[in-house]
Amino acid sequence: QAKLSGKNRYYLFDTEQDRDMRTHHENLDHVRHALHHSEFVLYYQPKVNMRNGTVVGVEALIRWQHPARGLLSPAHFLPAIEEHPLAIELGNWVIDAALQQIREWINQGLTLPVSVNISARQLRQSHFVDQLQNLLGHYPDINPALLELEILETSALGDLAQISERLHQCRRLGIGISLDDFGTGYSSLTYLKQLPAGMVKIDQSFVRDILEDPEDLTILDGVISLARAFNRDVIAEGVETIQHGDMLLRIGCDLAQGYGIARPMPAAGLAAWVNSWQSPSHWANLPG
Ligand code: C2E
Ligand code: MG
Ligand code: MG
Ligand code: MG
Repeated sequence: QAKLSGKNRYYLFDTEQDRDMRTHHENLDHVRHALHHSEFVLYYQPKVNMRNGTVVGVEALIRWQHPARGLLSPAHFLPAIEEHPLAIELGNWVIDAALQQIREWINQGLTLPVSVNISARQLRQSHFVDQLQNLLGHYPDINPALLELEILETSALGDLAQISERLHQCRRLGIGISLDDFGTGYSSLTYLKQLPAGMVKIDQSFVRDILEDPEDLTILDGVISLARAFNRDVIAEGVETIQHGDMLLRIGCDLAQGYGIARPMPAAGLAAWVNSWQSPSHWANLPG
């Protein structure tokens, strides 16, 4: 089949599968180009303790500042590269950019843990930990405890023992581990037991409807108790309103992240946000 490179690329593909392949390769090319032209940026979303009003950290979330299409969220480009080595390159870029940002904030007098999302593809590499150590080695002045990894339960599919050992190695380096989107996988309980995570992030699908749906509240309550019994910290994702915060505090979940507290924002806006944020005053007094 003909495949011409250069500006006037065209293709002589016939089947739908071929067309899909073509789109796939174009997507990869575009992402690669964007990576090498610094079009990716990290946004940061605060995680807070609602009860005492402190900011406990931020989650780094990737965005593509696309020259023509504007700011794109990860759903627009991560799936296309998921199973490709490029996902590793992008993943390493994210870790490095987060470390750079940690250093910059420290220089401004703001010391905050930053979590990065780790894809299954990244975690499955046998030299994942070496690579991480190598990246950290460029920032010898940064305490590795300021870096946290957010792991999807499903990333451990297949080789739980090996992934678990890898995460233990990360913990021995001082790096924090969170179980992301907790409760959405098929074996959440196994992962809770087997993976050395200090924190469990309850997926937003369990949080969204707690004000209207008593059964969802029961599930959330149970998940929180379970995580507690395993000595994990618990944070609720997708906290969209003050009322969600009220309810979470009443059932004993003090940590939260969501649009109701802050949307993900560019790094430049974070210090000002941290300095100006105040939790609603009644949050300090709710029983829970
Ligand atoms: P996640 O790690 O569970 O991140 C939370 C997602 O929920 C973010 O979407 C965030 O913007 C959104 N969110 C936060 N608060 C609320 C809320 O109150 N309501 C609602 N409806 N949504 C809220 P985003 O940034 O589009 O990221 C989506 C997913 O893409 C992330 O889910 C994560 O799995 C993945 N992702 C993001 N950045 C990276 C990255 O650098 N590397 C990798 N491998 N995955 C990433
Ligand atoms: Mg996450
Ligand atoms: Mg999540
Ligand atoms: Mg998610």
